[in-house]
Amino acid sequence: MFGTNGVRGIINKDLTVELVLKLSRAIGAVLGPGKIAIARDSRMGGEMFTHVLMSGLISTGCSVVNLGPAPTPTLQYMTPRLGCSAGVMVTASHNPPQFNGIKVIGSNGIEVTREIENLIEISYHSNQSKTAEWNKIGEVTHYSTAIDVYLEGIKSHLDIDKIKEKQLKVVVDSANSVGGLVTPRLLRELGCKVVSLNSQLDGSFPGRNPEPIPENLKDLSAAVTAMDADLGIAHDGDADRATFVDDAGRVLWGDQSFALIASRVLAKKRGSTLVTPISSGRLIEDVARKSGAKIDWTEVGSVVVSHRIEEIGAELGGEENGGVFYPDHQPVRDGAMTASQIVEMITLEDKTLSQLVSELPIYFNTKVKVPVPLEKRESLLGALLDLSKDMNRITIDGVKIIRDDGWILIRPSGTEPLYRCFAEGKTQETADHLSEEGVELIERAKKLV
Ligand code: MG
Repeated sequence: MFGTNGVRGIINKDLTVELVLKLSRAIGAVLGPGKIAIARDSRMGGEMFTHVLMSGLISTGCSVVNLGPAPTPTLQYMTPRLGCSAGVMVTASHNPPQFNGIKVIGSNGIEVTREIENLIEISYHSNQSKTAEWNKIGEVTHYSTAIDVYLEGIKSHLDIDKIKEKQLKVVVDSANSVGGLVTPRLLRELGCKVVSLNSQLDGSFPGRNPEPIPENLKDLSAAVTAMDADLGIAHDGDADRATFVDDAGRVLWGDQSFALIASRVLAKKRGSTLVTPISSGRLIEDVARKSGAKIDWTEVGSVVVSHRIEEIGAELGGEENGGVFYPDHQPVRDGAMTASQIVEMITLEDKTLSQLVSELPIYFNTKVKVPVPLEKRESLLGALLDLSKDMNRITIDGVKIIRDDGWILIRPSGTEPLYRCFAEGKTQETADHLSEEGVELIERAKKLV
């Protein structure tokens, strides 16, 4: 049931009221009794699923604190602060509009582990949902100041006076979802001149697709250029991620904004640790080396990064898609925190965003998909591990082959019948060449299984 980021499906087709009711009782059985905080983004069905979720949870004896529409990181910030034993977010993050989903948060504000998800699934399939005695049914309270508390939390990490003096002009594209409830307001409170795009909540996502990738951000780029703004910020559907547009109207790659934030955070303390998935590249390694920080590699996936940060007390985490984890605030991805860190950096360094980006080293990459039948997924990985055993490699998640001039990462797709081959090099030619080598290795492995 649970994928890499909770349960997701098409509204009223895969994700039905019946499923969510049963799921909420399973969540209550595993994570209750106690208070459970809930929130939702602007997606269609959000209100419908919130009602079902509240009924299901209180029927098991849990009490519910409903935060209403809010970003996932707001719910994650509030769950421990309200003394809740869990949180449940109704969201499908960056998926297309017809999707919605359920994400389960632990008492520490981090998405629950795979083990807890398995317990919830077992409870779901057991068909013995335990309901409370008639006089032990929980109650629902509404908490309307979550966003105020969350924004104060973010501001406590920033040099507010300096940012206010700078009066940056920022265009914020909230994708018609809950990012619009936090980032424009936060930046205004920081003295920025804010222009909002797609800021009204609308689950049909009339403005753009909620995934903040370059092809969906053409309006934002155009607005930044037309208004001569200092930067543009785009969130995904639940505002745990932020993508940036520089003052020249160019959409930054996720690893560029992550690298900029890393260069500041890691420089504060030598010997810091940065947690990042194996899919991150040389740019992050360069930044970490320059700041005297160590890298702790993990499997691909934001939940793994969060748990690892907690486990080892790391100073920062990040992903090449632009997800940034700043544990001084909270150890999960947080779009508004990420946005304000870039705004603060532009202010304190007194440089434009395009200047800051131009100071970063440049790498090129190539991404290829190779079809592999699902039944061969496991055995192919075994063959790849065998074929690469004498190479300089990391095998935390798939196989990452390290070369002087770049690297190749070969991993099975989690959902589709294919393997992905990522290659990165100092030149496009090197990246292409490494990618060909990776594909060749997959083809050789295919013949062995
Ligand atoms: Mg998201």
